[in-house]
Amino acid sequence: MLQRTEGIVLKSNIFGEADLIVTHLTSDHGIIKTFAKSPRKTKSRFGSSLEPLTCSRISFWGKEDAALPRLTQSDIIHSFESIRTSLQCFLRASEIIELILRLTPERESCGKVYPLLISILRSIEKGCETGLQLVYYKLKILQISGYLPRLDGCGRCGGKGGSFFIAQGTVLCGRCSAGSGASFDVSPAVLNLYSNLLAWSISKVNRIRLSERQMKELTALVDDHVRYVTEAAPKTGEFRLPSTFKRASEKTFS
Ligand SMILES: [Zn+2]
Repeated sequence: MLQRTEGIVLKSNIFGEADLIVTHLTSDHGIIKTFAKSPRKTKSRFGSSLEPLTCSRISFWGKEDAALPRLTQSDIIHSFESIRTSLQCFLRASEIIELILRLTPERESCGKVYPLLISILRSIEKGCETGLQLVYYKLKILQISGYLPRLDGCGRCGGKGGSFFIAQGTVLCGRCSAGSGASFDVSPAVLNLYSNLLAWSISKVNRIRLSERQMKELTALVDDHVRYVTEAAPKTGEFRLPSTFKRASEKTFS
């Protein structure tokens, strides 16, 4: 059956001599992989529409449960070409895409991720000079996916705590932290920034200037958390993360 939707190309893999397997994030099917026949043979509009980050109106055909439906049409809505031509912007977008690929299930509607990615790409298109932008968007994706780290209080009792426990996804207080694995201290300045960050608009985030030390600390915390979450939560659906993760995400910034 023929289906139509809107999607952003997350990646394309060469298949055979001239064909591609294209991975889209779509507005109503979540992540979907399709087979595109010979787009590399000609410099067609169809071929250009399969460049990473391109947003298009797509049609694909296959049985409901077909592993790899065939991409029959792809009309560009917005190419985001300027991101692909700037190394710094492209690397930034690639980190976002990688995180979405790791946290978003295939063929499941994930309503909020698609509009978030569109707004992220539009923002990166305007400029990608500040480091806080990337951290901010990683947190937004973690928030939507239910894996936001909790820093506003102990993830078990709600009490005061200044040490972040990687394997728990949260800050824990001295009483609750026994046997909770590796942790590192978070400075009051970063705790304070974090409690405001996701409530701010991107234009405000872009105006904030952190000290090098604070930026390093926040980036390390978010990247360690992302590494732990993406390694512990493969897309098999077999999540084995501690319950503090979900509880933390529900409480913080909700
Ligand atoms: Zn506690």
